[in-house]
Amino acid sequence: MVIDCHTHIFEAGRGGPFDLPASAEDLLREMDKHGVDASIVLPLPGVASNKFAHEECARYPDRLMALYTPEFDVLGETMHRMEVFFEQYSPKGLKIHPRRQAITIHESIVIEVLAWADAAHLPVLFDVFPFGPTLAKSATHPLAYHELAQRMPRLQMILAHAGGYRMMEAFLAAKANSGIYLDLSFTPVYFKGSSLAEDCSFLCNRLPPGRVLYGSDFPYVRYSDSLAAAHHFSADLTEDLRREVMGEAAARLFGIESD
Ligand SMILES: [Zn+2]
Repeated sequence: MVIDCHTHIFEAGRGGPFDLPASAEDLLREMDKHGVDASIVLPLPGVASNKFAHEECARYPDRLMALYTPEFDVLGETMHRMEVFFEQYSPKGLKIHPRRQAITIHESIVIEVLAWADAAHLPVLFDVFPFGPTLAKSATHPLAYHELAQRMPRLQMILAHAGGYRMMEAFLAAKANSGIYLDLSFTPVYFKGSSLAEDCSFLCNRLPPGRVLYGSDFPYVRYSDSLAAAHHFSADLTEDLRREVMGEAAARLFGIESD
């Protein structure tokens, strides 16, 4: 079973750097074409609201499962809005995008949200791809998540894009904390031709099985490019390990029934 732990759909119907068609149906068509059985769909402020992501995924419950992005625009309402949403829908976890949401994991409202997720046994996926104006902000770097994991050792955190150019820092954070998982979306394609793309197979081989997850970041990445990169970084893995990376780990983490 192949599970993509990192995809997006667009309310506008298309988007990303290639302006690809990106409705739920477009995503499913791409998944079918490339042998992907199920995908985790991430809401993204300005691109897909929580409600849109969940209502679209609810039409294909065996294939698409959405996460919930806490709303930090009105801080006094973050917790209440999240609780109300969870009464109506059943997200598989949370997604936080510190760069786009202009917050960091050092802020008290974020810690409050994470404590809530911890108590509810919900995994939390964070964008961890230092980039752009906040490139040097240490709170967006993988080591910040190491400190968080030391404080919340039971919380399951997925560092999306495996930490970007700071991949080895993400690797050591995952080595030090059993609650830290790495998603291999975007990074091996963005850094194709560099040593970082090669380091993806090192991550799979050196972390305990189940701690590295395949993701594409469709439509920011084309499926053909993402799966070509996955084919490359999984070429020297054992069959058991390849199955873990390509789906079984995500199935356990997000509670998806695997065949
Ligand atoms: Zn993404």
